Amino acid sequence: MTERTACCSCSQLQIRCTAEPTRVSLCHCLECQRRTGSSFGIAAFFDASSTEVTGTSRSYQRDSDSGFPVTFHFCGTCGSTVFWYPSRIPTVVGVAVGCFADPLFPRPTQAVYSEHRHGWIVTPI
Ligand SMILES: [Zn+2]
Ligand SMILES: [Zn+2]
Repeated sequence: MTERTACCSCSQLQIRCTAEPTRVSLCHCLECQRRTGSSFGIAAFFDASSTEVTGTSRSYQRDSDSGFPVTFHFCGTCGSTVFWYPSRIPTVVGVAVGCFADPLFPRPTQAVYSEHRHGWIVTPI
């Protein structure tokens, strides 16, 4: 069985994923740029039923273009956002791919919000 764990910088907040992601998505949107501090975000989506959270998180909810809010969970100690719940699809959890710290993680299969892509970025999708 595939098992991967994503965690924050200080490791207290973790989400264990016991299935393959249903989708891996690279996002150029400005909200992801602010959330990550990087030029884009990469999200792995899982069925929430195949994940398990340990540690304590704080949360931040924002609206999304779909009109449904998204609730982001981050570590109150180190500040890493590790996972989030899109209320549009309550059975799904998004996990920040960087928090797996795994260069062998499955590659993204779609890129979205390309209108906000930094001009120097060349992605494989
Ligand atoms: Zn932390
Ligand atoms: Zn985004």
